[in-house]
Amino acid sequence: MSRDQELSKQGIRRGDRRLMADMNRNLVFNVLRTGAVSRADVVRTTGLSPATVSAIVSDLIESGFVNEIGHGKSRGGRPPLVLQINDERNYAIGLKLMTRGAFVVVTDIRAEVLYAEMVEFDWAPVSGDSTLSARARSGDPSSVLDRICLAIEVAADRAGVGMAKVVGVGIGLAGIVETTTGICRYSPTFDWHDVPVAGPISKRLDRPVLVDNDVNALTVAEQWFGRGHGVDDFVVVTVGEGVGAGLVVGGNIYRGAEGAAGEIGHLPVAGETVACRCGRTGCLEAVSNDHAITGYVSEAVAAGRPTRLSGAAATGLTVHAVRLAAEAGDEVARAALERAGRMLGLGIAALVNLLNPRLVIVTGEGTKAGPLRWDAAMSAMRERSFAGIDRNVDFFVDSVDDIAWARGAACVVLGELFSSPMHRNVDLAPLRAR
Ligand SMILES: [Zn+2]
Repeated sequence: MSRDQELSKQGIRRGDRRLMADMNRNLVFNVLRTGAVSRADVVRTTGLSPATVSAIVSDLIESGFVNEIGHGKSRGGRPPLVLQINDERNYAIGLKLMTRGAFVVVTDIRAEVLYAEMVEFDWAPVSGDSTLSARARSGDPSSVLDRICLAIEVAADRAGVGMAKVVGVGIGLAGIVETTTGICRYSPTFDWHDVPVAGPISKRLDRPVLVDNDVNALTVAEQWFGRGHGVDDFVVVTVGEGVGAGLVVGGNIYRGAEGAAGEIGHLPVAGETVACRCGRTGCLEAVSNDHAITGYVSEAVAAGRPTRLSGAAATGLTVHAVRLAAEAGDEVARAALERAGRMLGLGIAALVNLLNPRLVIVTGEGTKAGPLRWDAAMSAMRERSFAGIDRNVDFFVDSVDDIAWARGAACVVLGELFSSPMHRNVDLAPLRAR
């Protein structure tokens, strides 16, 4: 064997040992996560040797990740020391990135929100176009990333948590995000293509950073704390300006090969004539989002159909106004909500037939449109599900606030803390064997 071959073989061995050490540390950390436990409890639950557990625990205590919080009950002999993850040393930051700014939360290691704040970005006006999205789109990636870093630092400071105590930062944004590399493949908000996001922010803040699609982040929040808790197969469908989905398959978020899974807004279900903002025709989003509702009303007004919304159609319609009109008996308003709901239901039926989930959660800004829209969506989903597989599918409409989206982003990065080193995307200090 050549010297090189021998070295590389030793390298593999060294790598294996390191991975084993990381995995053992992860096992111990996951037991500690369950609450106050003793070293003997950790040995019993993990099956590791007392010496290994003792060494890992000592190291975790020394680095401030775990505390001894006193003595437990004795089972004969000396009462054991009880261990607990140090809540005052381990925080996460979650962020939902939007056009106008970032909604930031600071959480403890259990993802309990300690602080929440909307940090507005100071976009300069763009000549010839006064819309916020035009201003955001004109921002080059580095200026957007600067603003994100500043928002994170401001929130950590105001929460009274030094960045040194932040174990990781999770960022949720609309678009296609490759979580493994931290690259945003496409952002409709900022008109980004292949922009590295996690790397530059991580370097600047000197903290691990994980970026994910915002709907996936919200889905993780549903999985940890919401209706999806304990459900292995479910989907979260978000409706508002866009239409998207988060998919949980076999207990794990399914992101696809490049992070683009769940883009149900662009399922080609609406024929060949309706234009979608993505540049194609016939996308689900174009006939089921909020704009599809107000657009339907505007067309009806232009065609001379009687509706109490004809005045509002000239000055700017909102989904809320359409809802109020529908509830007061306006037929055009009612048809607009039902049509958008029915089309969305067809998209959800496609998900049901593809993935056979146990649960469908519909959420997002569009939930404000009320029951006419959602009843139509649920009926269409049930009508078009194959062979009655919808029988055991629960359908819920949940309104969520910005905190839930940002908390989901914190959950994404905290989830890494407790995931197997084999599947980890970022290097998190508490679990790195020294
Ligand atoms: Zn489209």
